[in-house]
Amino acid sequence: MEDRTLAKAVDTELSRTEFRLSFPSPLEAQFEADTQSRRRRSLLVSTLIATPIYFLFLANDYTFRSGIFDFVLMVRLGAVLLIGVPAFWMLYRGVTPFWRETLVANIVVGAMVASCIVLRASQAPFSYYDVYCFGLILVAGNTFFPLRFTFACVTTAVCIAFMLATLVGYEPMPAEAKWLACLGIFSTALFTLVTCYRLERNERRAYLLLLRERMRSGHYRQDNEKLSKLSLTDPLTNIGNRRQFEAALDAGWQEALISQAPLSLLIIDVDHFKAYNDHYGHPEGDECLRRIAAALQAESREIDQVARIGGEEFALLLANISSYQAYQTAERVRRRIEALHIPNPGVAESAIVTVSIGVAVSSQSEVTAPSDLLTLADAALYQAKLAGRNRTFLAEASSKHRVNEASGLLDTP
Ligand code: GH3
Ligand code: MG
Ligand code: MG
Repeated sequence: MEDRTLAKAVDTELSRTEFRLSFPSPLEAQFEADTQSRRRRSLLVSTLIATPIYFLFLANDYTFRSGIFDFVLMVRLGAVLLIGVPAFWMLYRGVTPFWRETLVANIVVGAMVASCIVLRASQAPFSYYDVYCFGLILVAGNTFFPLRFTFACVTTAVCIAFMLATLVGYEPMPAEAKWLACLGIFSTALFTLVTCYRLERNERRAYLLLLRERMRSGHYRQDNEKLSKLSLTDPLTNIGNRRQFEAALDAGWQEALISQAPLSLLIIDVDHFKAYNDHYGHPEGDECLRRIAAALQAESREIDQVARIGGEEFALLLANISSYQAYQTAERVRRRIEALHIPNPGVAESAIVTVSIGVAVSSQSEVTAPSDLLTLADAALYQAKLAGRNRTFLAEASSKHRVNEASGLLDTP
């Protein structure tokens, strides 16, 4: 069910004051889906507890009707083996909600029928005292298991019908005792059914409140995630913005400290972008920035952080690679943007859009904080601009590690 429809259905159900317990069908299906395994477990546990209690009454059978004890034992065992065990097994395997309740109802009715058979089989004096315990079967069905209310009503009616049919014409029991037994069973039925109704109503209300809370917190979380994603994304290029970059720089720095692996930073600045803007106008300039951002993303790995940190300035944060690899990545980026062949006639007739890149690596001795990395990469970028643009410079290495123009490799001292 769609979230909004579900939320509306939950609110409607919570404000409803009618007697009806079940929810409208889609919500009922959700309720069953969310609660069925817990309910199945609780019914199985109830069955396990009720069975030895049922057998405990054999002690009473032995004192009241020892003459027919074998028969009584067979009846009680038969009820458990023919109804209890198969029902338990089916419940354990998992059945539809209707069959789940029907199976439990059968256990309750089975217990009542077996008790009635045992009673009728004996003519012993005081045997009819059993009838005063028949109410326990209703207590178990309606409050201990407890059955769903509708099933509880039907089961209770069937149990009472069996009990009445047993009592009619049962000679050893005086009429006054029968009246008392009936009064007892009717009162028990009424009390336990009201309790059963309240239990199910409370369970359903608690579920609705929980579901509403769950949906609300889910929405808040989604809204928060959306907001925090928005606050970290550059709307023009759809890559990270300066805030995201700063967070990534701090996090990357910490990871680099722990793993003792170098962290590299590339600062990429578009060359003569003012001229591009002046020639084509701002909207075209925006499009150019988007293409540059896409090129940057295409050259970076999943774990790298790409961000637009200023007007026409980008950053690429690379974890766990050597300064040489960082330099090579920068060169790939530079060449990729060059290969876009975006004309920049504002500079010269045949000029194209290029970038200059400053690279700094945390393994350099002068880098002791994330801000040092930024300062060094900026300084290297400045060097690259001074040296004529469209080139990559490694920080503090302008004289020592400049790229060899011919080989494309780093010159090392
Ligand atoms: P240099 O090679 O020295 O970097 O020259 P430059 O012209 O790129 O640098 P300058 O700092 O003089 O100009 C940057 C230009 O970038 C100015 C501004 O028009 C443009 N710019 C900054 N932000 C945006 C933006 O969001 N969209 C567009 N279209 N242009 C932008
Ligand atoms: Mg620029
Ligand atoms: Mg700039």
